[in-house]
Amino acid sequence: MKIIYSILTTLGAAIMFVSCGSPVEKAVGETEGTASGTNQLSLADVNTRTRSMDPIVTTATLLPTTNPQPTATVEPIVTPIPTASPKPTQTLVLIPTPTATPENYHTFINRNNGLIFVLPQTWEQKIESGGLQIFWSNADLMVLTAASSNQDLGYFVKNWFSNKPLFVETKRSEQRHMQIITGSLGMAYRQFVFIENAANDVSIFAFNANPDYLETYVPIFKGILDSIEIDASLIARTPTPSPTLTPPSIYTHVNGNQIPAKTVAGTNSCDQRFSDTAFCIELLIYEGVTEVHVQKAIDALKAIVGRYPVSESELKVTWPHFGPNGGIQNYLGYVIWNPETSSKTDIYDDLCMFRSISDSLHIKLEKDVCLSRVSGSLENTANGGANQGGAQLGHNGYVIHSATGLYETPLLSPAAPAKLLFKDPRKVAAHEYFHSYQDSHAIRIPGPAPASNQVPKTGPVWLMEGSAEYAAVRVSSLEGWMNWETQMKERMNVGENALAPYPNKFIAQHTTPEEKQTNDQKDPNMGHALSYELAIWAVAYAISISSQDAIMVNYWDDLEDYGYQESFRRNIGMSLKDFYISFREFRKQSLDQQYSSISSQIIE
Ligand SMILES: [Zn+2]
Repeated sequence: MKIIYSILTTLGAAIMFVSCGSPVEKAVGETEGTASGTNQLSLADVNTRTRSMDPIVTTATLLPTTNPQPTATVEPIVTPIPTASPKPTQTLVLIPTPTATPENYHTFINRNNGLIFVLPQTWEQKIESGGLQIFWSNADLMVLTAASSNQDLGYFVKNWFSNKPLFVETKRSEQRHMQIITGSLGMAYRQFVFIENAANDVSIFAFNANPDYLETYVPIFKGILDSIEIDASLIARTPTPSPTLTPPSIYTHVNGNQIPAKTVAGTNSCDQRFSDTAFCIELLIYEGVTEVHVQKAIDALKAIVGRYPVSESELKVTWPHFGPNGGIQNYLGYVIWNPETSSKTDIYDDLCMFRSISDSLHIKLEKDVCLSRVSGSLENTANGGANQGGAQLGHNGYVIHSATGLYETPLLSPAAPAKLLFKDPRKVAAHEYFHSYQDSHAIRIPGPAPASNQVPKTGPVWLMEGSAEYAAVRVSSLEGWMNWETQMKERMNVGENALAPYPNKFIAQHTTPEEKQTNDQKDPNMGHALSYELAIWAVAYAISISSQDAIMVNYWDDLEDYGYQESFRRNIGMSLKDFYISFREFRKQSLDQQYSSISSQIIE
């Protein structure tokens, strides 16, 4: 199948780094990683801010051009819900068949259901199996028939969209017995037209366009729409029941617990050592990784999964990618590789079992495309970092990448100089796990990922990184790997020193991926302080005026219902704006005073 990847690239560039709920997944993260190596902020610092470079194009439209497979882009037909009282057959308006079709137009007539419409003959590809599909270079149209089961058209439409949680409706209108619903699916422009046909089924027109080419295609769509008619006289007097199209069963996703058996590395089932969380965690270990390396990851995961667990119900999605009943998006692959000895082929084979597997509904992404997308975030960890990728629509699971270099970092006594412990690999691993915890609370929020100059669905960047770092340092302290007091005090010192030359820089100016990028480029130390050192303190301070659960549990649980701003307000007890004012005041206190507010936070 030939696919226009340039569209994906274009769309992907706009959304790839924010769409997985990972606001720091900026391209600049790469640069930062390099920068941090030269300013002694390496390892722990790198790994916490070079999260997945994996392009996430879940919302991009995949538009086949020349040779689409017959089964591509077929939307599943919603299983109709029978209504209690069948409504009487609607009298159809008979409209004369157009007598003269303009040149370069083609009239389509369906003698089974009386549907007539006209299309300009500008298409590049037409497929007539599995419903009529027309492909232009940057748009497509699919015409389907679905059994209405005697449902009222309005009810049918409602039912249809109940299965499309990610469709964002922007306009709805009625015209000559047609219901016309316009909106977007991710970045793609979509328009659906529903009309009851003369066989008492519903004919559905699904238009799909690259938003950059709306000027070209909206008039075409309108022309087609205006031509749609139902002519009952086309149907024979003893009509045979019109065949209902059954969508092909091309489902790209499976429940997470089926993935371990598909990967080469790891085991064939979810790792029971981490069963305190509903993530199905699998350790994917490759050549050249020792047991000593792996043990550090195991210790970290054991320490954090039970303290910040997700539930199965939180991981349930209604995505049609899983099939008509949705599925459980719970796989978390934890990769440990050795850049010198591990087989990249094996790693990519495994990653492409669950990462970057689809672009559009029921379209499996080709292997080479997947490889190009998963390689960057893996390679990013080669020098000892780690990163995490959330499980948005195009993926069938979460991923944490880490390389042996990370685990080579020796484990030090909690009494060692506090800053040396910033690099503790167990803390880093816990930090990345918490990013999966965060992302899992936002995967069901409908609508496209916010642009990079907007706050991600999961919340401001400082809060994402600050809470992941907080969870990691807290867990490390509870496990006796670190000392809470020396760690937190050192972080405040490092953060305030980095911010000293920038009196106007504050977490309130570090909320969007774009702001983070700007700050990191201006001064990596300053950007780092706003992502981590000051951010962890902002989270600790927020807990001191609310509770552990308020910000580390309830805030995430409420994201889906309230969005980040309202979730913050109702759980912390003040708006983000007021919180910034309050935290500014807190910063003026002495370090001992500040610490006294958070000293009890590691008591379980
Ligand atoms: Zn992070």
